[in-house]
Amino acid sequence: MPPTLDPELRRALAARIHYYNEMGIYDFYRRPVSVHPEEVTAPIAVDEQEIVSVNPEFGEEMSPRKSTAVAVPLAVEGEENIFEVIALKPEQSVSDPVKALKIIREDLGDCTRCVLHKQGRKQIVFGVGNPTAEVMFVGEGPGADEDAKGEPFVGRAGQLLNNMIKAMGIEREQVYIANIVKCRPPGNRQPERDECATCSPFLMRQIAAVKPKVIVALGATAAKTLLAMNSSMMQLRGRFYDFRSAGVRSNDPNWDGCKLAVTYHPAFLLRDPRQKGEAWKDLQMVMKELGLKAPKSNT
Ligand code: URA
Repeated sequence: MPPTLDPELRRALAARIHYYNEMGIYDFYRRPVSVHPEEVTAPIAVDEQEIVSVNPEFGEEMSPRKSTAVAVPLAVEGEENIFEVIALKPEQSVSDPVKALKIIREDLGDCTRCVLHKQGRKQIVFGVGNPTAEVMFVGEGPGADEDAKGEPFVGRAGQLLNNMIKAMGIEREQVYIANIVKCRPPGNRQPERDECATCSPFLMRQIAAVKPKVIVALGATAAKTLLAMNSSMMQLRGRFYDFRSAGVRSNDPNWDGCKLAVTYHPAFLLRDPRQKGEAWKDLQMVMKELGLKAPKSNT
């Protein structure tokens, strides 16, 4: 029998959360609880180089597309999802995504929630693009160029991402681009797990505001954080996941999540251009889902 919440407790919990919401407090954190703890693995940032060394088939033909999987972050099948009770966010009563994103940005403020705020960041890199985009690209975290400009993916990796987007038959302005962490990790190190966990609720809210049809997770950190899975890139790529914004509900009853695909991070592709063909396969899977056709020069 799946454990259910006592109705009295549920009511008390909802009342308490309503009370906090009225005071302007919206962020609640819940540790993952599992009947089978080994099945719910907290996201771990892994160096893409490490993936190369643990992936014996790296660079070979990709295996056939696997069936769609369902990612259920921080919840166990059959267990009542308390997040559904506690996930009231201030932007939820707003139907205009531009306004919703503005509310989320204001809520983020001059963020000091994790150590990255005092490790040399120039500014917060919130996200950029079409607030009603059908496709959303999520990277790891800002680098020096992004930190200087306040916009994600504007350096060399950004130029390659622009080319990838163009190859899909769309323009950068048509998509929405964001990162798992919004502040530059010093020396471009990978964000720590707690930094990802602290920052990603804001990304989840951005996703719920934009309501994309497909999210493309760029690299291991984005994939593992969004899916709350600790698998290798080889295991993660080549299929669609059913994605729901953990802890957040969209104000649109017709948007109950979207598909998520995983591909290589453009910075990794700059280091190992031989993998561009594999990334192109991932993007073609996304294009098929969205009914996009590559421009003539790419066919
Ligand atoms: N790498 C990322 O993951 N994000 C950026 O915005 C830039 C480089």
